[in-house]
Amino acid sequence: MILIKSSKEIEYMRESGRIVGLALNEIEKAIRPGITTHELDRIANDVLKHEGAIPSFKGQEGFEGSDPYPATICASVNNQVIHGIPDSYALKEGDIISIDMGAVKNGYHGDAARTFAVGEISKEAQKLIDVTRESFFNGIKFAKVGNRVSDISHAVQEYVESFGFSVVRDFVGHGVGRELHEEPEVPNFGRPGHGPRLEKGMVIAVEPMVNTGKYDIDILNNGWTVVTKDGSLSAHYENTIVITDGEPEILTLIK
Ligand code: MG
Repeated sequence: MILIKSSKEIEYMRESGRIVGLALNEIEKAIRPGITTHELDRIANDVLKHEGAIPSFKGQEGFEGSDPYPATICASVNNQVIHGIPDSYALKEGDIISIDMGAVKNGYHGDAARTFAVGEISKEAQKLIDVTRESFFNGIKFAKVGNRVSDISHAVQEYVESFGFSVVRDFVGHGVGRELHEEPEVPNFGRPGHGPRLEKGMVIAVEPMVNTGKYDIDILNNGWTVVTKDGSLSAHYENTIVITDGEPEILTLIK
């Protein structure tokens, strides 16, 4: 069931979203060659603690047989698509790193992701980051009352593929609210005019995951980390948005 949020609930979600946006901005400032993904996790944790929020991802169940998720952020480097677990890896000049995180406060979640450059990166890597971000903004042009979910999906896919990149099929965006993952699913591919109709008060996370190579993925032995099958680079961009009478409201982006 798709839960339509009241204005009071959306107010709570603005606060959770603001905290996620703030933590991502703090991480962006800290990214440089030499910093470990574990240190980035600590930065996110400090922001959440200061703002009275709890990490959404910690304790989530992964694929069968894996341990519950152990960290505040997902830190996915280069060919890692999503769910990279923070560790002692020190970022290197030329890496790209996708940070995905959620925060819960007053019982409501916010969820967002960005891909950042570490120092000087290749032209292709920069293009990938830019196209991934722009595909989100292209997609949410269709996030309007009366449109269908796949109108967003189609716009994301069309934009990404026009640059010769591919969108990951096995993981999709989702509704957000009291649960981190609610209905509906929001794929980043598909024909327009399908899926549920968008209604005022729906809150969804739109999150293109884009590869420079093919869209196929593998999952590492830790039961969490998703990598590109062909070893190509991958980027991720996500915000939690609210469907309104006009333009969608982005909850997790602080400029
Ligand atoms: Mg998400």
